[in-house]
Amino acid sequence: MSVRSVTILGATGSVGTSTLDLVEREPDRFRVAALTAQRDVDGLAAAARRTGAALAVIGDPARYEDLKAALAGTKTRVASGEQAIVDAAALGADWTMAAIVGIAGLRPTMAALAGGGTVALANKESLVSAGALVTDAAQAHGATLLPVDSEHNAVFQCFDHAAPGSIRKITLTASGGPFRDWSIEAMRAATPAQAVKHPNWSMGAKISVDSATLMNKGLELIEAFHLFPLPADGFDAIIHPQSVVHALVDYVDGSVLAQLGTPDMRTPIAHSLAWPQRMATPCRPLDLAAIGRLDFLAPDHERFPALTIALEVLAAGGARSAILNAANEVAVAAFLDGRIGFLDIALIVRKALDRYDPPAPVSIDDVFAIDAGARRAAQAAMEIMTA
Ligand code: NAD
Ligand code: MG
Repeated sequence: MSVRSVTILGATGSVGTSTLDLVEREPDRFRVAALTAQRDVDGLAAAARRTGAALAVIGDPARYEDLKAALAGTKTRVASGEQAIVDAAALGADWTMAAIVGIAGLRPTMAALAGGGTVALANKESLVSAGALVTDAAQAHGATLLPVDSEHNAVFQCFDHAAPGSIRKITLTASGGPFRDWSIEAMRAATPAQAVKHPNWSMGAKISVDSATLMNKGLELIEAFHLFPLPADGFDAIIHPQSVVHALVDYVDGSVLAQLGTPDMRTPIAHSLAWPQRMATPCRPLDLAAIGRLDFLAPDHERFPALTIALEVLAAGGARSAILNAANEVAVAAFLDGRIGFLDIALIVRKALDRYDPPAPVSIDDVFAIDAGARRAAQAAMEIMTA
């Protein structure tokens, strides 16, 4: 087996460190080309030292000297700034993990795709915002785009890629998040600490809040639409508190294929890292007898309006999903900052979508212009609400 060069964008995050954990277990199989992070110099430098990474990039230019000092005496080259992250992504590694959070991951993801290698996509926000511009770029450059998001990785494993016409429906499961059984009144007073405490998964702050509002599932339905060739109404979500079944693929003959596993991101990451082969992981084997039962229930759109909004956006297409994503990023940051309440997140997203209706993007620059416009609309909505 030839050694695979690996780049990890967002190496210090939840997905990034899980990816490093797997890569470091098989040093004969993987060689680290580049690691990037935004602010965590210590985490980045430690990972670069452990793996002997050829390049380490810190996004925040003010931390360049710290990173340089932390990697003094090693062979790792050091760089900083937004463009340096894009340049690192463009180096053309055999395999790139796109695990930056938010729209900030879009340019690096596009650069990795332009390199024509395999891109393992965790950064759902770039696909939600730029949609076909991302998948078209993958095709144009002969790059392989593999879904890392656990639900999409599950669909990928169950999807008969040779007979897409035989599939009638894709269902993504959602744990329901920490507020699954909370009343609207209780949710009104929910704190950031309560929102980021996910029952089954350990994740970064932004996606944890998205899981609590169910916006994460909404973003994922849009993500799935861009990854799998079904019409917009072919995608649905179901609440499944145990997070054991990750997604279901429904065929015309009535067969339903599902992928199951212990909720641990290292399984979908390993699937994309070894693909088309398999690799062993330290994930706890699934013990269905110990779990005992698997529950499923329809999502409550009244308590979780973010899901309804996302489904409307999916049906409408065009620029709507870039607006949804940007407004949600603004609102989630404001919530984590203590500036707005939990229920305000969906309200702000709704208002931004009401206020702003530009034409569909035809370029990545258009996506960033829409993103900026949606942030202004969300900001304005927030100022009125908190005045
Ligand atoms: P995280 O917050 O734990 O990590 C984010 C990483 O991105 C860090 O390395 C950080 O340094 C870097 N980063 C942050 N802002 C940046 C910027 N402006 N420019 C460049 N780099 C920046 O996030 P996470 O939970 O690992 O999630 C990463 C992505 O994967 C998100 O898009 C998320 O939706 C998706 N995802 C995560 C999980 C999970 O289990 N955590 C599961 C599925 C999908
Ligand atoms: Mg997911």
